[in-house]
Amino acid sequence: MSVSPAGRRLLPIVAHAPTGVGHLRGNEDFPTAARGALADAQLRRNLGHATTTIRDKRATVVGEVDDWDQLRDAAKAIKDATMARLPDLLAQLEERVTAAGGVVHWARDANEANAIVTGLVRETGSEEVVKVKSMATQEIGLNEALADAGIAAYETDLAELIVQLAEDQPSHILVPAIHKNRAEIRELFARTLPGVDPGLTDDPAALAAAARKHLRHRFLTAKVGISGANFAVAETGTLSVVESEGNGRMCLTLPDTLITVMGIEKLVPTWRDLEVFLQLLPRSSTGERMNPYTSLWTGVHPGDGPQNVHLVLLDNGRTAVLADEVGRETLNCIRCSACLNVCPVYERTGGHAYGSVYPGPIGAILSPQLTGIQDNASLPYASTLCGACYEVCPVKIDIPSILVHLRAEHVDAQREDRRLPSPEAIGMAAAAWTMTDADRWSTAQSASRAGRLLGRRTDKDAGRIRSLPGPLAAWTGARDAPRPPSETFRRWWQRERGGRS
Ligand code: SF4
Repeated sequence: MSVSPAGRRLLPIVAHAPTGVGHLRGNEDFPTAARGALADAQLRRNLGHATTTIRDKRATVVGEVDDWDQLRDAAKAIKDATMARLPDLLAQLEERVTAAGGVVHWARDANEANAIVTGLVRETGSEEVVKVKSMATQEIGLNEALADAGIAAYETDLAELIVQLAEDQPSHILVPAIHKNRAEIRELFARTLPGVDPGLTDDPAALAAAARKHLRHRFLTAKVGISGANFAVAETGTLSVVESEGNGRMCLTLPDTLITVMGIEKLVPTWRDLEVFLQLLPRSSTGERMNPYTSLWTGVHPGDGPQNVHLVLLDNGRTAVLADEVGRETLNCIRCSACLNVCPVYERTGGHAYGSVYPGPIGAILSPQLTGIQDNASLPYASTLCGACYEVCPVKIDIPSILVHLRAEHVDAQREDRRLPSPEAIGMAAAAWTMTDADRWSTAQSASRAGRLLGRRTDKDAGRIRSLPGPLAAWTGARDAPRPPSETFRRWWQRERGGRS
C-alpha cells in the first residue's frame, strides 16, 4: 500500500490488528521476567545510578520554571483538543506536506509500514540506511524487516548503537542502554568496532570518540536516512526531531532520501502549540533546559537537504486507543520517559522485564492498548499505583487511573472466557459470606486459629507470612503478607471494655 487519499483510510476507527509492539522476550509475563531481572545485582546498580541521576537533574531544571504546572495544563489541553479532531488534522498535515513536495503514505499496521519503507529504499537502489533513534520504527520491527530484504540499517544514536552492537534490546525509551555501565560498553566497543584503539578506556569522552569515528563514514556515504518524529505541525506540514548528539541532524540533512515513520498521534495543530512542548520535553526527559538539537523540516527545498522526502503515518492500533474514552489520553504521550525514571517498579526491574518496546509506566498502559489486553495482560499490574508517574508527566496523563481501567478490562475479559468461577471469585464470595455475619467474622478473625494454620509459614522476626496455602499462594508468590496480630481488636475491646464485641 502506498499513498492514500487524505486520512480516510485510517479514520474513523478501523478494526485492524496491530503487529509489532509486543513481547521481545518470548511470551514471558512481567512477574516471570521481573524475577530474573531482580536477581541481577549489576543491572540493579546500573539502573539505580542512572535513574537517580536523571531524576535529580529533572527536578532541578523543572524547579526553575515558575509556571511549570500551567505549562502542563496547556500541553494537556492542546493534546486533548488534537485527539478530538485527529482525522481533520491528519488530512491537513497530508495536504501541507504534499504541497511542500513531500509524499505521504498511510500504514494500518507494522507489516504495511515495513513494506512501504522497504519498497522506498529499494527504489533508491541503496542497500544500507542510517537511522535516527525512533520508537515507532522499533515498534514495527523495521530493522529486522529491512535485514530480511537485504538492507542494512545502521543506528546512529550512541545508546542505540550500543544496543545494536550488543545484539540486545533497548531497556529505556530515552536511554536505551541504561542497563549497561561504562566498563561493559568499553568491552563491547573493543570487541565489535572495526579498527578500534586497543588501548580504549572507559572514559565517556573516549567511548563517544570511538563511536563518532565509526559513524562518520556511514553519515557521509548513506543515500537514505530514516527517522521518527517527535512532533508534526499540521498547519505547515513541518516535521520535527529533537536530540542531543547531532547524529539526527546528520541523518536528516545529508542523505538524498529521507523517510520518516510517525505514529498518527504525534500531531500538534500549530507552531504556537509546538512552543509549549519544546519547553516541556527537554526538562522532563534529559533534565536539560533546551534540546541541543531541534531539527525542523517542511517538504523539499531544491539543492538543500534531502530531495525525496516521505512521511509514513502509522496507525498500528492507535485508532482503537482513540476509541476508548478512558485510555485515549495515552496518545497524548510525548515519550519523555520521566515516568520511567520515577517508577519504583521500573527502577528495580529495568525495561526488558516489560517484554514490550514501550517499558515503564507508559508501556504498562500503551502496549496493552495497542495490542489488545490479551497480549500484554500482565503489564497493567506492573505498578504499585503510587502515582509518581502522574506527578511528573508533562502532559498530565492519569496513568494510575488508566492502569486500573485496564485491570478491570482484563478481569472482565477473563470472566467472559471462563465457564466456571475463578479461585479469586470463589475467595471473594467466601469473604463476603464471612464478613456479612458478626459471629462468622469473629470466628474467622480468631488469631489463635490463624496462627495455628499459618504458624509454620510465618517469619516471626520479620512479622510476615512468607507463603499462604492453596489458591492464596498466588498472593504471597509475589509479596509478603503481614502476620496476624496475636490478639484481634474485638478480643481487645472485650478485655478492656467488657461485654459483647
Ligand atoms: S506518559 Fe508522560 S511522563 Fe511518561 S513518557 Fe509519556 S509524556 Fe513522559
